[in-house]
Amino acid sequence: MEYLSVAAAQRVVLESVATFGAEQVKLEQSLGRVLAEEVRANRDQPPYDISAMDGYALRSTDLAKIPATLEIIEDIKAGDMPTKTLTPGQCARIMTGAPIPQGADAVIRVEDTEAVSAEALSPNSLPQAGERDSASLRENLFDRVQINQAVKPGNDIRRLGENMRNGEVVLAPGTAITPGVIGVLATVKRAQVQVYRRPRVAILSTGNELEGLDEPVDPNKIPNSNSYALMGQVQALGIEPVLLGIARDDPEELARYLKRGLEYDVLLVSGGTSVGVHDYVRPTIEALGAQMLFWRVAMKPGHPVAFGKADEKIIFGLPGNPVSSMVCFEEFVVPALRRMMGHARTHRRTIQARMTHNVKHQPGRTEFIRVLLAQEPGGYTATSTGAQGSGMLLSMARADGLAVVPGDSAGLAAGSAVTVQLLDGTVFQDDAGFRE
Ligand code: AMP
Ligand code: MG
Repeated sequence: MEYLSVAAAQRVVLESVATFGAEQVKLEQSLGRVLAEEVRANRDQPPYDISAMDGYALRSTDLAKIPATLEIIEDIKAGDMPTKTLTPGQCARIMTGAPIPQGADAVIRVEDTEAVSAEALSPNSLPQAGERDSASLRENLFDRVQINQAVKPGNDIRRLGENMRNGEVVLAPGTAITPGVIGVLATVKRAQVQVYRRPRVAILSTGNELEGLDEPVDPNKIPNSNSYALMGQVQALGIEPVLLGIARDDPEELARYLKRGLEYDVLLVSGGTSVGVHDYVRPTIEALGAQMLFWRVAMKPGHPVAFGKADEKIIFGLPGNPVSSMVCFEEFVVPALRRMMGHARTHRRTIQARMTHNVKHQPGRTEFIRVLLAQEPGGYTATSTGAQGSGMLLSMARADGLAVVPGDSAGLAAGSAVTVQLLDGTVFQDDAGFRE
């Protein structure tokens, strides 16, 4: 079988997977999921014109001459409904979020006003004796405010329906649920939401040499790290995988494990995908009815990576080398799981960086170099995390991203531009974003 390019292999994977059906979850459990329904506003938000500031609601025409002194006729707190209508020369003390009273057309913030004491008022600005009784006169002396700034109509008013109108579509299916989206869902009173179901993922490691995490240390064995690194990669996508343990390189035992693995939507098998005489994964999985769609990809690390389907189940045969296993997960399993979960954006975010050193490369396979990123005045720089062998798991553990060296490159000189695929974070993009 031909070696596929990374992009061609990604296409095969994405064409083979579909988004799952919907299920209902509580809003509290929805972070990181993907909306499977259209969500509409259930009322106008805000429900009436409200103040954007703590200050005074007033008639902007009363501020033709500045400073102006206005009579405060009411105190409106958030949650109150105004009971009075402003007439010329009047204002209402108003708090952020409180409804604008009838007659007012603007709000001025408290910082642009000054309290007025009785002494400061000139006798002819006092209410006329006889118009009001003495108790209300006394009250009114302190219920005045000096406005030091003119404002335009509409100043610091949040208009009815400015956030959303009743019945309007506010969230479309396929929206990834972020904290902001949760806020919108709560605004429209969705305590339960329809989201796409997540695939159930099983992880199986294979190899006679492997030592389980719970087994005593045997100097002749290799600790099983792949099951756990893969577990972490799956968890980082918001899915809790099932670890099936370690299958020995024995066709019967392997068949038993693989059968169990095929009960899940996605089976990740680590190791045994190469062409060694004891690499039984391929014949065993095919004997169980799986149709393998590719076995080799022109990439480094990770070329013995396999992908197949058994009915609706999908299987990834990941290389046993710890770095290869993780890189292949990033390139192929991440897009597949994201597509199944209903995400529109399936690929890790890429950025442009400059290499701080030369990179050797034999033309042929696309190479993924584990790098550290630094933000410098001219943009990001990328520096290798050290020895890049496919068994050097520390090179991966230290990395911020994978710098992609195109297959046809004859090497990169220090200072040359390189695309770096970020390894963590929750922001994804539509396509791979690199040239092979
Ligand atoms: P394989 O792909 O089975 O030929 O394995 C390639 C290399 O990866 C060998 O050195 C294995 O010992 C190592 N390896 C395989 N599986 C694991 C695992 N689960 N954890 C750590 N190393 C592994
Ligand atoms: Mg092996």
